[in-house]
Amino acid sequence: MPIRGLIVHGGAGRWEARRLERAKPVLIRAVERGIEAFNENGDVVSACEEAVKVLEDSALFNAGTGSTLNIFGEVEMDASIMRGWDLEAGAVAAVRRIKNPISLARKVMEETDHVMLVGEGAERFARALGFQEYDPITPERLEKYRKYMQKLKEEGIDALPVRWKRLGELMKKYPHYFHGTVGCVAVDDAGKIVSASSTGGVFLKLEGRVGDTPQIGSGIYATEFAGASATGIGEGIARVVLSKRICDAVERGISIGEAVRMGIDYLTERVGLDAGVIALDVEGNVAHHSNTGTMPVAYYSNGKMGVEQG
Ligand code: ASP
Repeated sequence: MPIRGLIVHGGAGRWEARRLERAKPVLIRAVERGIEAFNENGDVVSACEEAVKVLEDSALFNAGTGSTLNIFGEVEMDASIMRGWDLEAGAVAAVRRIKNPISLARKVMEETDHVMLVGEGAERFARALGFQEYDPITPERLEKYRKYMQKLKEEGIDALPVRWKRLGELMKKYPHYFHGTVGCVAVDDAGKIVSASSTGGVFLKLEGRVGDTPQIGSGIYATEFAGASATGIGEGIARVVLSKRICDAVERGISIGEAVRMGIDYLTERVGLDAGVIALDVEGNVAHHSNTGTMPVAYYSNGKMGVEQG
């Protein structure tokens, strides 16, 4: 068997039905590309990276091309990747002009002594390594941003900075802005686990805001027992260190399905913000759970392919 398990998600949120239908084949393609990449070079890190790249390159998701815009109408993306067998990890935060932040996160893991690079420093590092300048802003995102700014003006709210305590309210009012981060977790036939995630963050975030995605332990985590990758409002995910919580539960003997449910229930109870997570164990059993109603996922698990709405 080439790879035991690989699962990807397209973001937890309240998806419009049409967009959800368009997302599913892209998620399946991401799983297939991950498996192909593994077959090409037997490397589970490449499997995760390539699966995430398919999702970053699709404007349907809030990662890479088509990332959501911050309060000033700019893109600032975060991404991370982690190996379970030796706990090596790499992350980038608040990068703007990069096509595939997940590939840059991998370079941080494999070619530096650090775990995370941010902003201009991360971009300078990218250029030195040959990453081309790339504008990930799509006309669709720009249009939504302009419409929202117009609405703010018309309603007389010209104070641009959104206070974070109002994020929950804002999400209920404009749910379509808040979905779409992508993630992947994979395990090969030797039991090597890799977790990865990539995002444009949350709409109207303050400039410089960094969410859970590049925070190792919160947005992603991987051990010899399990791997997890989260999505949702990063402030909630970070406050409960969601991904590590799930991996630790599996290490204590809890099943992967139960571990994701317990993790999301704990987050919901303690911080009450939207969140979802995908995970798998060393045997290739996959699991996913969210408190948002929808989180499209596709997976391969011990010979079977699947796609679900979450
Ligand atoms: N977790 C991401 C963040 O807070 C957003 C998302 O998952 O949609 O940056």
